[in-house]
Amino acid sequence: MPTTKCLPTLPPFRRPAEPAGQGRSLKAKRPCRCPDHRRVKVHRNYAIDEIAGLLNVHVGTVRVWIRNGLPLIDHQRPYLISGLALMTFLKLRRAQNRRPCGPAEIYCLRCRAPQRPAGDMADYIAWTDRTGDLIGLCPRCEMAMYRRISRARFAEICAGLEVRIMQEHLRLSASTCPSVNDHFGQE
Ligand SMILES: [Zn+2]
Repeated sequence: MPTTKCLPTLPPFRRPAEPAGQGRSLKAKRPCRCPDHRRVKVHRNYAIDEIAGLLNVHVGTVRVWIRNGLPLIDHQRPYLISGLALMTFLKLRRAQNRRPCGPAEIYCLRCRAPQRPAGDMADYIAWTDRTGDLIGLCPRCEMAMYRRISRARFAEICAGLEVRIMQEHLRLSASTCPSVNDHFGQE
């Protein structure tokens, strides 16, 4: 059911900065919440401060990881951690922290949890023929939430939401019409 209801309080969507350099360097200085295990070399041993530098986290964070089960090679200073143990620990941690969005949900960065948008209303902005952003307001903190979705999954993800389509020529229906999937093809 297409709708003409508006979300008047939604701020304009800002696309992520293109690789101009500035945005990336700013991002690199911020401590990383989700360290990338692919930076770890399996056959190396690391000191605590080396891990902090490698993964862009605070040394205190690495000590917390050790308290939470990241194994030391032995208990002699300087404390060393094997690359394999570190990689395994990070992979497990990432899997445990994963909070996938269900249908009609958008991840709120502030609440750090998937939320149904306020009023079950959202906007959809198509960026390409295949993908676009579903935008809604978090019902808890009122922050704008964004979810990149493929058009192939539009009907599935938007079921139960009132979605305002932002481009006239890309008008879609939020109903689970089978032709929607046929038309857009698979992801
Ligand atoms: Zn929130």
